[in-house]
Amino acid sequence: MKNNIEEISLTVSIDTECDHDPNWIRSNPLTFNSIVDGLPNRLQPAFDSVGAVPTYLLTVEVLEDDACVESLKNMPGNYEYGTHLHAAFIEPQKKFHKYDGVDSPDFQCSYEPDVEYQKLSNLTNLFEEKLGYRPTSFRAGRYGASINSINSLEKLGYKVDTSVTPYIKWKEPNATVDFRKAPEQPYFPSRNKLIEPASESGGRILEVPVTVKPRLLKRTPIWFRPWFASVPQMQDIFRYQMRKHADKIKVNINMMFHSMEVIEKASPYPQSRADVDRYIDDMHRTLEWCAGEGVKFCGLSDVRDMYSTSKRSN
Ligand SMILES: [Zn+2]
Repeated sequence: MKNNIEEISLTVSIDTECDHDPNWIRSNPLTFNSIVDGLPNRLQPAFDSVGAVPTYLLTVEVLEDDACVESLKNMPGNYEYGTHLHAAFIEPQKKFHKYDGVDSPDFQCSYEPDVEYQKLSNLTNLFEEKLGYRPTSFRAGRYGASINSINSLEKLGYKVDTSVTPYIKWKEPNATVDFRKAPEQPYFPSRNKLIEPASESGGRILEVPVTVKPRLLKRTPIWFRPWFASVPQMQDIFRYQMRKHADKIKVNINMMFHSMEVIEKASPYPQSRADVDRYIDDMHRTLEWCAGEGVKFCGLSDVRDMYSTSKRSN
């Protein structure tokens, strides 16, 4: 097949949260090692050394913590900050006032649309109050976004959402999100359905799905993500996306993970410092290899601009 690809963007989207425990419960007492140590000392130097531009998607508890905000404001390097919502932790209908040792139970899309809008608005205002500007990129906690979420984000001035995980259906007691038929590559969602591309882009928020590759005979895809995939597997996922979308002018590769994954025992993944070192090394080697493949590293919001400036974007 003819290869039409002229531009490959590579984004790294990171849910940036308080430390958790190996069962994905918030740490007790609540700690923020991934913010004050993980980002400035482990992640950002690795990104800077290959020229990658990560997007750190910040949660409520991180923005409410003064030491975190101070550390985030002073971090050198090239990156973007956006937001990430765990809906139970912000008004209206806030469920937890102390976050230590609690789980994040629900999808934001299980709330009434106006309640969800207010939660997103409060998170956005909190970000602006702490960092001095409006965020323009977002991911829903537990990927629990619907078209209401997207329409709310658009009203709030966001450029990019990255809640969609193709081939996966997520369930919680009050809601289900079904991304099994979602596009693999960036698209402007229609007004009524998140997984359906709009017929025209006209100023819409851009959906940038998490990069995965479906697996034969398996219910779930493999993620372009350290720990979930080895370096050769991530290279294979990259090549799969290039083959599958060779008819497009622009292709995006979107690595995702959580800030807590680079702190031992703060997530279900690396449990020792050696695990963390291997994790960061795998990530670094993969990004370095992608640089050799000619990718353009950029923040999530830049992807919207890339897709808006060309009519031939898909
Ligand atoms: Zn999260």
